[in-house]
Amino acid sequence: MPPPRTPGTALRQRLAELRGPDVPAKALDARALAALAANPGCKRRAILDGAGVNKATLASALGSPSGFGQSQFALARGNTFEARVKADGGAELLRLVHEKLDPGAAAPAESEVPDLTASGPEGRTARTALALRDAHLARTEGGTGGWVLLDHPMLALDVAGSPAFLEPDAVVVHPDGSWTVVEIKSFPMLDGSADPAKVGAAARQAAVYVLALEEVAARLTLDGTAPAPTVNHRVLLVCPKDFSNLPAASAVDVRKQRAVTGRQLSRLTRIEDIADTLPEGTCFAPDLPAAELTAAVESVPAEYAPECLSACELAFHCRGRSRARGAVTSLGRSVRADLGALTTVDDVLAAAHGRSGDPADPTVAALRRAAALRAEALRTPSGSAVSPELPAPEGAVCR
Ligand code: SF4
Repeated sequence: MPPPRTPGTALRQRLAELRGPDVPAKALDARALAALAANPGCKRRAILDGAGVNKATLASALGSPSGFGQSQFALARGNTFEARVKADGGAELLRLVHEKLDPGAAAPAESEVPDLTASGPEGRTARTALALRDAHLARTEGGTGGWVLLDHPMLALDVAGSPAFLEPDAVVVHPDGSWTVVEIKSFPMLDGSADPAKVGAAARQAAVYVLALEEVAARLTLDGTAPAPTVNHRVLLVCPKDFSNLPAASAVDVRKQRAVTGRQLSRLTRIEDIADTLPEGTCFAPDLPAAELTAAVESVPAEYAPECLSACELAFHCRGRSRARGAVTSLGRSVRADLGALTTVDDVLAAAHGRSGDPADPTVAALRRAAALRAEALRTPSGSAVSPELPAPEGAVCR
């Protein structure tokens, strides 16, 4: 079974230089990957994540701290809940998987929980792959085919030419040999349903694990004598029930998220190609003077959109820069798409008020019509018009 691809020594060294001397790399997790996939055009995020830069620390050093992160209390509560769900060899967790995803299989009277400890993420990834292979072999070679619980396995996914190591809460091997991702979250499930936004984020995260598991499954060809194991596209989401500490579970179909995330990740520019475009000496070490750090960050093109506010630690910094440039992307991707070649607010206003632009261009014509309607709507009872150069209503620019 070939190991996942690792970056060459030269690239690893270049990424370490970008991170800064003695700055430890921050591992990419599935949440970060899902966010990266949501904005595949942003080279800034791609290189910072690829180099293992801690974006929250960087944002603080730039003077625009992010509001990301869980409180210590929430983390402790989440860990306690997860430990409870996985107690007794994962008996309750496997019962939920059986009930919600595979009721036709034999009930999990007893289970196997392989030891996945190894040193370093590469070692843990190899250990996980071995455990999954053993479980697969047990079935294809006439073994017992019971339930197997992999507690915090480690998976590797190639992202823009660099491996990202991912740690799902659990992966379950069913008696029929298929694999299921389990996500354990600390937000509550009330009367059987949870906050759709949080479920959506969990589904995107789980989709990244499914993609990584599929890479492991594809490598288990077993000399072509047996089919590769199936990775289920329905994952199990486990949450506290009605604010209690009891678990409630729901099957979540992540086919759509898996397809979108896979497509977006494949569109990412390769990390080494981005690194090659950066000026010599570029470094994102948080202890650099703010001006130097800002110049380094600004040397990488970004694609700010309001969606960044809920997905990226650098959002406040990038939003400030985007607004300062008058970039229309700060108003949203749909606005940007509607405005075609007009990329700044100044360009848009000039086109709307007839100072530039081809009247035959449908975008320019639509803007002039909108400007005329606005002027008419703002005309005072005395007949004088309010200046058409007034800024747009607050709601249009507040993002
Ligand atoms: S906030 Fe900035 S770095 Fe992060 S994804 Fe958006 S544009 Fe890219």
